[in-house]
Amino acid sequence: MIIRDNLKNFYSSLPENVTLVAVSKTKPITDLMEAYQAGQRVFGENKVQEMCEKQVQMPEDVKWHLIGHLQTNKVKYIAPFVELIHGVDSLKLLKEIDKQAKKHNRIINCLLQIYIAEEETKFGLSEQEFFEIIHSEEFKKLENIKVVGLMGMATYTEIDQQIRKEFGYLKSLFDKCQQFNTSNFQLNILSMGMSGDYQIAIESGSTMIRVGSSIFGNRA
Ligand SMILES: *Cc1c(COP(=O)(O)O)cnc(C)c1O
Repeated sequence: MIIRDNLKNFYSSLPENVTLVAVSKTKPITDLMEAYQAGQRVFGENKVQEMCEKQVQMPEDVKWHLIGHLQTNKVKYIAPFVELIHGVDSLKLLKEIDKQAKKHNRIINCLLQIYIAEEETKFGLSEQEFFEIIHSEEFKKLENIKVVGLMGMATYTEIDQQIRKEFGYLKSLFDKCQQFNTSNFQLNILSMGMSGDYQIAIESGSTMIRVGSSIFGNRA
C-alpha cells in the first residue's frame, strides 16, 4: 500500500506537463504490479536483461524506458518493445538502435544524454560532441530513430545551487535546439530529476522525472 500512497502523492502534486517514470530496477514484480494497479504505466529499468524479464511478466500496455547506460551489443534485446531510451551517448549507439529498429519496422525514440555533472563517473556527451553528432551526415541518414529530447544527471550533492546550475545549463541547451527541427530530431522531452532532486529539476524546466526510491523505497 505504501507504493500506491507514494504514487498518489506524486499524481496529485506533479505539474500536468511532467511525466513520471517509475524506476523499478532491483524491485520484484509484485512491487511493479502494485504501481501498475495504482495507475502507473511508465516504468524505467537500467539493465537490459532485467527489463526483458519483467516485460514478459507485466501487462502489455506498460511503457518501458531504458534509463541506464546501454551497450551496443544489447540493443537487439529491447528493440522490439522499448518505448524510450534515455541514455544515448554516441553516434555508434544511435546507428545500432537504428539498425535494430529497422528489423522490427519501427522508429525508436531516444534521448541524448548530456554530461552536466562535476563528477568524473557519469556518462554523457559534451555540448560539442552533441552538436557534432546531430550535424553529421551519418546522423541525417538514420530513419528508424528519433531524438525526441535530452537527458542529464546532476552532481550528487546537498548543495542546491550546484544542482540548479547544472539543470539550468541543460534547459538552456534544450531551448537552444528548439529551432533545429528535422525528420529524426525534434526535442520535446527534457529528462532530468530523480528522488533527491526532482523538485529542483521541475523548477528548472524538466518534463520527465525518473523516480525510484521515493516510490518503491530504498534499494538493497
Ligand atoms: C536509479 C536511477 C534513477 C532513480 O534513482 P532514485 O534516486 O532511486 O530516484 C534515475 N535515473 C537513473 C539513470 C537511474 O539509474
